[in-house]
Amino acid sequence: MYLVLLGPPGAGKGTQADLLSRDHDIPHISTGDMLRSAVSDKTELGEEAREHMERGDLVPDEVVIGVTRQRLAADDAAGGFVLDGFPRTVEQAESLGDIMEQDMGRSLDMVINLDVPETELIRRMTGRRICPTCGRNYHLVFNAPRSLGECDECGSDLIQREDDKESVVRQRLEVYQQNSKPLIDYYEDVGLLINVDGRGSVEQVHEKIEDILG
Ligand code: AMP
Repeated sequence: MYLVLLGPPGAGKGTQADLLSRDHDIPHISTGDMLRSAVSDKTELGEEAREHMERGDLVPDEVVIGVTRQRLAADDAAGGFVLDGFPRTVEQAESLGDIMEQDMGRSLDMVINLDVPETELIRRMTGRRICPTCGRNYHLVFNAPRSLGECDECGSDLIQREDDKESVVRQRLEVYQQNSKPLIDYYEDVGLLINVDGRGSVEQVHEKIEDILG
């Protein structure tokens, strides 16, 4: 199964992609995760991406397309994948189509668009915390750690992603609004788009997606 998850930052793409990856045994490919690990490893790619990410802006298309092309060439992506955070522009969507057709001889099965109102997105994102040591994710309201500010797994002090701070969250949403309409129209025109209401619990949204996948 070759899937794309679209939706604003905070819509739950990462969480839903993890569940789809588990249930269908396909890799969860997140450009945001790949870029964050390049930034923390201080690679050339990370240096190129860092400033854009800290501002809440998009990393330039050619950079993200190159990284994604490389990732999709790995063996584990040949039999399917769930893409989270890519494409974010029509140019990226066109490149994805080309990469799949030319390099893999495949095409996308479905593009799932998770729809969540903006006030809910801000609440979800500003409450997110991560463990810098083991990478586990928490939320101050929906998935709080047992002891305030500490990771349940390893006891490290939890941190907030720089780009989950409210001013950056607003910029990320603004950038999303600018790019989403043309991207959604693009996938609607080719008949791949399915809209899913992303409100409700993680499990409820997951069930809705599984029902659609059949
Ligand atoms: P995410 O974790 O998907 O919200 O991505 C975090 C940040 O990484 C975004 O705010 C962008 O700066 C950058 N990023 C991730 N994916 C892309 C993409 N497909 N195109 C451009 N920038 C991206």
